[in-house]
Amino acid sequence: MTDMNDELVKFIFDGLPVRGLLVRLGNSWQDVLARRALAGDAFPPEVRALLGEMAAAGVLMQSNIKFNGALVLQMYGDGPVKLAVAEVQPDLAFRVTAKVVGEVPAGARLEALLNVHGQGRCAITLDPKDKLPGQAPYQGVVALHGDQREPLQALAEVLEHYMLQSEQLDTKLILAANDQVAAGLLIQRMPVQGMGNVQGTSGARNEDEIGINEAYNRIALLAATLTADELLTLTPDTVLRRLFWEEPVRLLTPQDGPHAPHTPRFECSCSRERVGSMLKSLGRDEVDSIITEQGRVEIGCDFCGKKYHFDPVDVGGLFTPVRDQPPGSAVRQ
Ligand SMILES: [Zn+2]
Repeated sequence: MTDMNDELVKFIFDGLPVRGLLVRLGNSWQDVLARRALAGDAFPPEVRALLGEMAAAGVLMQSNIKFNGALVLQMYGDGPVKLAVAEVQPDLAFRVTAKVVGEVPAGARLEALLNVHGQGRCAITLDPKDKLPGQAPYQGVVALHGDQREPLQALAEVLEHYMLQSEQLDTKLILAANDQVAAGLLIQRMPVQGMGNVQGTSGARNEDEIGINEAYNRIALLAATLTADELLTLTPDTVLRRLFWEEPVRLLTPQDGPHAPHTPRFECSCSRERVGSMLKSLGRDEVDSIITEQGRVEIGCDFCGKKYHFDPVDVGGLFTPVRDQPPGSAVRQ
């Protein structure tokens, strides 16, 4: 393993209504892949690249919103990839997994992975941490094709569409991943609150908006020149210097208070208790039949590869009402 920090930087362009974020997942991303390989179930390289891009994109989108809950990026596919998931918590703890059935063609991109029959979808869910009664998670869904029905080949394009559709925000996104690094750059036009609006003179507003368009378009064009190789190999500082050396770019630091970014990291929220609840929902007969067949139940976490075992005594405990259990015999942690 090559030692590489996990980093997220936020930046603004002084005086311009444009902001940006750059993420680089190194050690955490290598950790994700190593766990999967250790569980004996490594993903094909094309799927690893997709999941890396999804992890980077999820971290960028989560840190770009003020929201106390999980951001879940899901790709539903009609090709060999049936489902790919990246989940990012408000503190930027992330995890990813995928369900792959059959052969993944070498070099496959979005269409060959997920959109063979044009039915692929990308869903972005914001799941609030403290739900009010009856409150449902917010979900936006976009197809994996462009305005002319052409199939999209890059996740970045799909997500740019989503941001424009759902948030009316012009966004430029560059994503890349290999087995060492998953990285992404996001440039976004900030919502207009120009003086023209306040003054209410349409001429001034138009001028204001034209100026704003020019600044965003220029910076988005510069961002688009970033290659996957540069994004994967250069430090965030170097990337920003090379792309925007003529622009008034300024990094936000911890002194900037609530705007300062967290550090992304891998973390799985699975637990023995949750696996126990899942077994309970299967029903006693189902679980007993596994015990009869295999002597115990083994459940592996799809996200981190951790294995949970339940022997006949554990299973008996699961299905015994809590009040009938002697003290201290609850599900073992
Ligand atoms: Zn897990």
